[in-house]
Amino acid sequence: MGNNIQLLSALLISLPLVLAFGFLLGHWFRVYRERDKKTTLTLLSAVFDHTHDGVTITDKTGNIIAVNRTFTQVTGYSEAEVIGENPRLLSSGCHDAEFYKNYWQALIDTGIWQGEIWNRRKDGEVYLEWLTCKAVKNNNNEITHFVAVFSDITEHRRQEARLEHATEHDRLTGLPNTASILRELTKSLPNLQRQWCVLLLDIDNFRLVNSSYGFAVGDQLLNNIAKRLQGCCTKGLIARHSADVFIIAAPLASNSDDERLALINSLRSCIVKPFSILGRLMEFSFSVGATTWDNANLAINTVLQEAELALHASKSRGAGQTRFYSEDLRADKNPLAYLQGLREALGNNELALFYQPLVTAATGKIHALEVLLRWTHPVMGNIPPDHFIPLAERHGLMESLGHWILQQALQQYASWQKSGIAPPHIAVNVSPVEFQSENFVANVMAALKKHQVKPSSLELELTEGVFVQQDPSTLEKLEALSKHGINLAIDDFGTGYSSLAYLKHLPVNQLKLDRAFIQGLPENEADRAIVESTLALCRGLKMSVVAEGVENKEQADYLNRKGCDYIQGFFYGRPVDKDQTSQLLIKQKNAIT
Ligand code: C2E
Ligand code: CA
Ligand code: CA
Repeated sequence: MGNNIQLLSALLISLPLVLAFGFLLGHWFRVYRERDKKTTLTLLSAVFDHTHDGVTITDKTGNIIAVNRTFTQVTGYSEAEVIGENPRLLSSGCHDAEFYKNYWQALIDTGIWQGEIWNRRKDGEVYLEWLTCKAVKNNNNEITHFVAVFSDITEHRRQEARLEHATEHDRLTGLPNTASILRELTKSLPNLQRQWCVLLLDIDNFRLVNSSYGFAVGDQLLNNIAKRLQGCCTKGLIARHSADVFIIAAPLASNSDDERLALINSLRSCIVKPFSILGRLMEFSFSVGATTWDNANLAINTVLQEAELALHASKSRGAGQTRFYSEDLRADKNPLAYLQGLREALGNNELALFYQPLVTAATGKIHALEVLLRWTHPVMGNIPPDHFIPLAERHGLMESLGHWILQQALQQYASWQKSGIAPPHIAVNVSPVEFQSENFVANVMAALKKHQVKPSSLELELTEGVFVQQDPSTLEKLEALSKHGINLAIDDFGTGYSSLAYLKHLPVNQLKLDRAFIQGLPENEADRAIVESTLALCRGLKMSVVAEGVENKEQADYLNRKGCDYIQGFFYGRPVDKDQTSQLLIKQKNAIT
């Protein structure tokens, strides 16, 4: 691309010049006889001196009869030094005899030669020029002179090379990047003698390194790993794939498990040794996902995807594991396969909010609407939130997803308020990952302000895990939200830590009893015991209780009898889209008035 632009611009600049010189020279000889010599020479010398291109004029035997100022600047030779010499004087030795033969042949056959040529300046430096040489003929069609116009494109070429390096390499480690290694690999397709083991190496818990020791330490670690990998994998290709993932492609002589394992073991033994970073000795564990490229018909991108699937599978088993790709990882439901889609889902309008009522047990009236996210994938159809939310959390998408959900939910709630049909509360689920964000409270407050929704209308549903982490910043955030008047609910209660003791000190208003304890009601004795004791405890703590997953009248009646405050479940209403929810709200309003 760069070459083409260079070529084009050189062509545009040099060709007219060469033609002009050719014309002027021809003209010169004609007018010489016509005694108009003086004007023409003045004209010629003006063009000669003011052009930024170097110009060399030789006689038909190739001896230089004139050069311009730029020639002198570029080559370092003065006019006196080159007059009478052959341009061979500038030869760099970079081109073979064949090259010059073709050059002269083209000049004689077509009258013009154009191309890149390496020459040598007087000081010995080799430079690259874009040269256009034209044979000048007299009226008898005999060659009388050659006019060569050239520009020094060495610096352009260097810039191109620098640009190429910058776009092909990772700035931090200097390693090639993914695109570059893939391109390199496609030049060495696998065959019977040589196959490739393509593996991804991921530093376990790298985020913690950055957050605990700072980015300088993280950067240093990445640099040290890159160097060590280069040292211990001399036969393979190495690239930085993403923040803390490296690609290694090593040649294999066979498709044997032993060879692959030996390769990975040698890599592991080289990088598990402690790293000395800013005066500290640190040890790390690594997850590896690997695959073999033994089929030249398989695109390298697909091979990389296989390694990614293997890495994902390896990480899901815990830190420090190695996993080889196998076909079962490529099932349609494979999370990674649709992760890319999730990144685009927001922009493509594939995500939508559904709403499910939480009903006051005693009256059957809607007390709140819980916001539930829906993803309709163009190919895979509906993907349940508990499949893709954990993925979004692991891959850093949850914060922006959570932000979008809150904005949409509050906008919708505000519009129901304007229509006079809004229930008292809107309940939004908050992922622990979102909650961890430093700006969480400020973001929630800003969203409420933007949509002019009172904080007391908002309920945030947080899972037990968030409350159990009793670190100061969690407590501070909970206190801040509560002080602003936002209601806090513990979601899925009973599935995690099942202890109410820690709730005493927390600003929580509501507890949502998980469906697991509701399903067996009213028959199951153990479930009854749990539900009844939870209700009693919450009464003492002045917390309201929501029973989740209520699917039939018996369950609803039982819970109502036992003093459960709110009921949510298919019995009262499934999650439905905003239009159906609007109808439900209108129906309820009409029933009341
Ligand atoms: P959750 O917060 O416990 O939400 C209640 C889940 O129970 C919903 O599943 C709902 O459709 C389902 N459900 C409600 N009533 C019944 C019932 O009577 N019977 C049965 N069998 N199920 C019932 P859904 O919508 O598939 O959501 C699953 C989980 O995904 C949610 O569990 C929540 O943890 C997460 N989630 C959904 N939307 C969001 C969101 O916007 N943000 C976050 N952070 N998480 C969300
Ligand atoms: Ca919930
Ligand atoms: Ca729940």
